[in-house]
Amino acid sequence: MIKINEVFFSIQGESSLVGFPTVFVRTTGCNLRCTYCDSTYSYYEGSNMSQEDLLELIKGFETKYVCITGGEPLLQNEIYSLMKTLCDNNYVVSLETSGSKLCHQVDPRVKIILDIKTPDSGAKNSFKLENLSILSPTTEIKFVITSENDFSWSEDFCHRHQLFDRNQILYSPSFGQINPQWLAEKILSQKSKARLQLQLHKYIWSPDKRGV
Ligand code: SF4
Repeated sequence: MIKINEVFFSIQGESSLVGFPTVFVRTTGCNLRCTYCDSTYSYYEGSNMSQEDLLELIKGFETKYVCITGGEPLLQNEIYSLMKTLCDNNYVVSLETSGSKLCHQVDPRVKIILDIKTPDSGAKNSFKLENLSILSPTTEIKFVITSENDFSWSEDFCHRHQLFDRNQILYSPSFGQINPQWLAEKILSQKSKARLQLQLHKYIWSPDKRGV
């Protein structure tokens, strides 16, 4: 059984899969408490579902894209076999994780989106550095930028670990906190190799709307 907060069908708003109609499976529970968290309802709300029932539900949406998100999905052991089963069923599976848990058990066919926490997220140092040694080229690394300090820290982190040469780096302005234009101009003026990412779903629908 996996404790699930919600399953919904929407447009992928982030990563290189942006724009694809996607089934989102949001697990319950998170070990972090980021200052900008927009899914606090996932901390405790939810109910247990079997993998069989989840698969049936996902099939009903008739898309090949499935995103496992949270909360922190890797807090529940059964999530690994769910992702494997989805891959075996030819789904394009992505996983959003903070990297505060080791990712080595994640099926290699899954696209991992590592959301590395910056200093002003309030969860600095939550990232397990060991995860850098098991990165595949398809892994995308996201930094939510909430301040100038976060920008500098992220640039330094990526250079120190040579991430720009290995993986796609995404800088996402913390919605409502950082003007996207400021971040765009910062990326340009600093000649950063990061890719600007806006949370598309927050521009299409109301930023507070759930299930999109
Ligand atoms: S890791 Fe995600 S779900 Fe958990 S507190 Fe941070 S933003 Fe919220």
